[in-house]
Amino acid sequence: MAVEPGKAVSLKDFDPDFTGGYDDKAGALEKVAANVDRLSAMQEVLYAQDNYALLIIFQAMDAAGKDGAIRHVMSGINPQGCQVTSFKAPSAEDLDYGYLWRASKALPGRGMIGIFNRSYYEDVLVVRVHPELLEKQKLPTRARKGDIWQRRFKEINNFEKYLRQNGTIVLKFFLNVSKKEQKNRFLARIDEPEKNWKFSPADYAERKHWDDYQKAFEDMLENTSTEWAPWFVIPADNKWFARLAVSEVISGAFERIDLQMPVVSEARKKELGQIRSQLLDEED
Ligand code: ATP
Ligand code: MG
Repeated sequence: MAVEPGKAVSLKDFDPDFTGGYDDKAGALEKVAANVDRLSAMQEVLYAQDNYALLIIFQAMDAAGKDGAIRHVMSGINPQGCQVTSFKAPSAEDLDYGYLWRASKALPGRGMIGIFNRSYYEDVLVVRVHPELLEKQKLPTRARKGDIWQRRFKEINNFEKYLRQNGTIVLKFFLNVSKKEQKNRFLARIDEPEKNWKFSPADYAERKHWDDYQKAFEDMLENTSTEWAPWFVIPADNKWFARLAVSEVISGAFERIDLQMPVVSEARKKELGQIRSQLLDEED
């Protein structure tokens, strides 16, 4: 599932319907719940320690289940320690800066978990599939010359290395849904009135560019999965399996961070002892 840095990626090698022979949906949901409890405990330490931040990025085609995965996997986390940012088409202000600017503003601070629902990776995905979006970015001619995508991959890798070296752990998930399953989910969104709000004709328009997107995703995975910020390709045709896989990867990553509750100094213990006595001495 983790994309090996520098290795050629063909999405044909990744089965969106993969469940590893595992079909115990109820058991999977229990495991997700157990992982959520662990995450919640680890998040508390992350916050108390105040050294590290965790950035989790989700990219996918429409209806791959980003929103559901975020909701389920983060359901037990203290809302004060976690912040979700959704990246839509850039505003006029965003377009006055480089493409990493708006993401930089939304980065999680120390002790926090930040989730990006889409991200600066859109700038090598949708912008690559629709060249007119690149025009809107108002880049100087020089910055558009040559292979802009290779250049952006390098910029992103450097940006993420800088984040990692300064205490932000970066995890990136590509929810890999099949074209067939996307069709089923679109049909359900049209057929079931309570799901109508989830469907936009624009999603159908993007589906027509499926092959171009797959190529852009492959190139992105191949060039931006690094030791310091790996990509995970998550089989997403079965929502329960995708949620399990994402929650396992996040818990595993959390375990590798050297998380420790801050050590209470002698001076602080003494101070707390004094306050304790004063509290007990209060009348009433
Ligand atoms: P949902 O449909 O589940 O609510 P979503 O993430 O698809 O969630 P939308 O508002 O439907 O949200 O779509 C956001 C759109 O913004 C996507 O089509 C995405 O490609 C586009 N977008 C995001 N970043 C950029 C960017 N840098 N340049 C151009 N378009 C972008
Ligand atoms: Mg959408």
